[in-house]
Amino acid sequence: MNNFNFFLDKFFYKSQKSFLFYLIVAIIYIILIVVLILLIVNKNSYIFLLFFIMLTFAFLLFGHEIGIILASIWIILSTIRIIFIREISGILTSIINLIVTAGVSFLLSVFIRETDTRKKNIDIRSDNIQYKKIEKKEEYDKIKSQIEGNKTRIKNYTLLNEVAQKLTVTLEKEEIYKIVSNYISPLLNNKKVNFEFLIWDEESGIYECLGKKYNTTDTSGTIKLYKKDPFDEWVEVNKQTLFIKNIDDDYRFKILSKQIKNFKSMVCIPLLTKQRIIGILKVYSDKVNFFDNDDARILNYLGDLCTTIVQNSLLYSKTKELAIKDGLTGLYMRRYFIEKLDEEIRRAKQLNTTFSFLMIDIDHFKECNDTFGHLFGDKVLRLLGEFLKENLRDVDIIGRYGGEEFAVILPNTNYNGATFVAERLRSNFEKLVIKVNENEGRKITLSIGGIEYKDSMKLMEIINCADKALYHSKETGRNKVTFWEDIQ
Ligand code: GH3
Ligand code: MG
Ligand code: MG
Repeated sequence: MNNFNFFLDKFFYKSQKSFLFYLIVAIIYIILIVVLILLIVNKNSYIFLLFFIMLTFAFLLFGHEIGIILASIWIILSTIRIIFIREISGILTSIINLIVTAGVSFLLSVFIRETDTRKKNIDIRSDNIQYKKIEKKEEYDKIKSQIEGNKTRIKNYTLLNEVAQKLTVTLEKEEIYKIVSNYISPLLNNKKVNFEFLIWDEESGIYECLGKKYNTTDTSGTIKLYKKDPFDEWVEVNKQTLFIKNIDDDYRFKILSKQIKNFKSMVCIPLLTKQRIIGILKVYSDKVNFFDNDDARILNYLGDLCTTIVQNSLLYSKTKELAIKDGLTGLYMRRYFIEKLDEEIRRAKQLNTTFSFLMIDIDHFKECNDTFGHLFGDKVLRLLGEFLKENLRDVDIIGRYGGEEFAVILPNTNYNGATFVAERLRSNFEKLVIKVNENEGRKITLSIGGIEYKDSMKLMEIINCADKALYHSKETGRNKVTFWEDIQ
């Protein structure tokens, strides 16, 4: 049936017809009408057959309205003919013809109408299907994008979980930086970004920058002397994430946009603990609109993670420092200092170098305490600590060995160098006038014992020899430098 409908639709009254089609049909109809008139005039019985063909064609070609009109014309003409033909047999045939014509017209009309309705229904149904198809497509696209989004989300949370696991077993700042820098690009759908990790250093009061800074050419990792930029300042003031999509369009940094050449977009996340910033995570790119809201969200999560980890790391460094450094002078305490001495012995053995060791003791310190009080004594100890730090190299290791005894390791320094350094320390300290009060000052002297490390010397041997040399300085009048090598 469907095929038949299709056939009707394609070739007959529903199809688009050309001018040529109508011309041919018109010519055929004119010929048929002429033949019909000739047949009528000759009272031929083929009239009915011919008309029947015409009627069928009319229904099929032009639809049931035209068919009905044609049938009606025929019925009227036949009726007129019946009226004019007075023969009984002729009248009978004509009446039968009329009834058959009316019946066939009726059937054709019903058939065509039925086909029309079906066609309409099919059209409506196919419209509905089309509409539903569009609806389904939209739904499908929506679900597909949701699935894609969920996939990315799952991937990102898995990655975040991995980062968290790795970070929880880390306490060293450099290690934290390494882990985060390894994960930053995968977390941002493998976008290539630049990345800085700033950690606040309580002692120096500046940020320590781990990673490459955008306005320096220095790529050598940690930048100790980090200078805050306007973005760090913005984050510090607002205590919230700074999200720049395009620096040129950002009214907050309008004045800066011309100076900044190294990036166009940035996400800057504060590591915030109880309203105190302990670090800043900075991700940026030279492309505009490089980061979307999802990126900012995932970086915020990463920032939250880092906050706890950095906090632990800072606490760990502080505890470590408290355990190894003396609170009054900030110098290494005896236990840690001895570890360092052990390390230096091993290093000297391995590299076949030498080092010297000094033991420094304040002269008549007890008397100092007794005369001016312990607070003054503490002041002297603190000043001596600062003095030693200022007057020695960065590579030299200074420790507070006991109450008013200090010790120094001078790496790569032989007897000659060490005697020179020790003498310089003694003579420079002697010159200092330490204020007791507004009007009074006091000079303090040091006695020093030293030794140059010789191969196969043991740790305690070095300390004992230096101690003996120091004792010699005390014995022979104080404010003196004696080396073990001199008194053997
Ligand atoms: P010498 O010239 O022989 O070294 O005499 P001294 O008085 O310096 O030596 P002594 O060992 O007799 O006295 C050391 C004093 O240092 C005793 C102790 O009260 C004092 N001292 C040790 N630690 C501290 C400290 O942390 N603060 C203060 N104010 N005094 C301390
Ligand atoms: Mg002393
Ligand atoms: Mg002493």
